[in-house]
Amino acid sequence: MFHQVCLLPEDRSLLRFVSRDMEQLEPLSVYEWQVLPFGTMCSPCCATFALQHHVNQHSQPDDPVKFSVQRGFYVDNCLQSLPTPEEAKLKELLSSEIQDLTDFHAWRYVDSASNPANNLTHGKTLTELVEPNRCSQGPPFLLLSKKLTVHPVGKKHPDSWNDLLEITAQELHGAADSVEPLTADDYRGAETVILKVQQDSFPEELCLLKAKKSVFTISRLLTLSPELDDSGELIQVGGRLRRSEDLEPGTKHPIIRDPTHPTTRLLIQHFNNQLCHPGPERGFAEIRRKYWILRGCEVVRRYQHACIDCRCLKARPVVPKMADLPPVHLRLFKPAFYSTGMDCFWLIEVKVGRRCEKRWGIIFKCLTTRAVHFLSSIDSFLMALRRFLARRGTPAKLFSDQERESCGRPLLKCLQTCSGSSPNRIAFHFNPPAASHFGGKYSE
Ligand SMILES: [Zn+2]
Repeated sequence: MFHQVCLLPEDRSLLRFVSRDMEQLEPLSVYEWQVLPFGTMCSPCCATFALQHHVNQHSQPDDPVKFSVQRGFYVDNCLQSLPTPEEAKLKELLSSEIQDLTDFHAWRYVDSASNPANNLTHGKTLTELVEPNRCSQGPPFLLLSKKLTVHPVGKKHPDSWNDLLEITAQELHGAADSVEPLTADDYRGAETVILKVQQDSFPEELCLLKAKKSVFTISRLLTLSPELDDSGELIQVGGRLRRSEDLEPGTKHPIIRDPTHPTTRLLIQHFNNQLCHPGPERGFAEIRRKYWILRGCEVVRRYQHACIDCRCLKARPVVPKMADLPPVHLRLFKPAFYSTGMDCFWLIEVKVGRRCEKRWGIIFKCLTTRAVHFLSSIDSFLMALRRFLARRGTPAKLFSDQERESCGRPLLKCLQTCSGSSPNRIAFHFNPPAASHFGGKYSE
């Protein structure tokens, strides 16, 4: 409904918008609304006013349309009320009867550009309607036949190679020609039609080859020994693999493609997506089984450089900047084990005489020089600590975590007792509980 309300020419410049359709390198295009857009605050008010104004001006007092517009509309939704439930049921029956009586496959999708009904609902002026148009002449797809060579590019803007194939196959099939679904032959024919865009890129070469002459010496195709395929319509690589018995015919003589043509970009996109965004060489090798794109590797690389998925998959994680080292790691002119980290590790089996005993391993590590001292303890941490002090001297600071489970015994209590009495003037520092980012120097 909004699109049927034309804007005054002097108001159109107020409703502008810019777009570049995800193409970051393209300059911005400025568009101007010709009709009332949906979504601005005043639009529902303007549209409802226009509708009611026209109905009041141009309808009879007892006209049912007038009643519907005045009583049955909420913004752009019409919900018609009928006097009795019987009348409402009859109306619903009629709409479902159309669906029941017709075959689902008989219905065809007609896009907006080809739909003649859109001429009346898109706010066309009378002058535009008088000129020959799709409404008076019929939509162009009705005039197409299967034999006609359709030029798919330029008419529509498909987003993918499969879309292009689908659109071309539909056009070749004829939208109103038949109710049968598309077959494999239709798609094969569509692909041949798409490949014939070669005549845009290499018109002179095609003429010369059809006349059974060799191409010019300045031609881009000269080094490929170009020749026509079996159908005589497509240029393929002559190459030197003619005598190979194992290769497929398409691999021996791939179809030549122009790197700048839009369909080539869709082809690269198709292979790139199908192979889940591989490296450029892999994608290029797969394309070359059937098609020979001039300067192919470079073109594939350029495409992948612009592909967001490829860039995400190949991106390397940024190494975070490390913070400054704490002072306990920088006691450069102090003796070894001046600042010591300590950790209790897993049970180790120690052979005593002819039997094995399980003992805890304790690691002491100097935080400045990374010197390491190992000890094993049966049950007393304090005894192990005394042995360490006797051998290495007294550290100024001793760091430890508060892990209890791996020790299996109240190590923390021992340490707290030790810290409380502090017979050796050791400053104990405990990491916060469950802080896995602490103590990397001596725990790892
Ligand atoms: Zn990609």
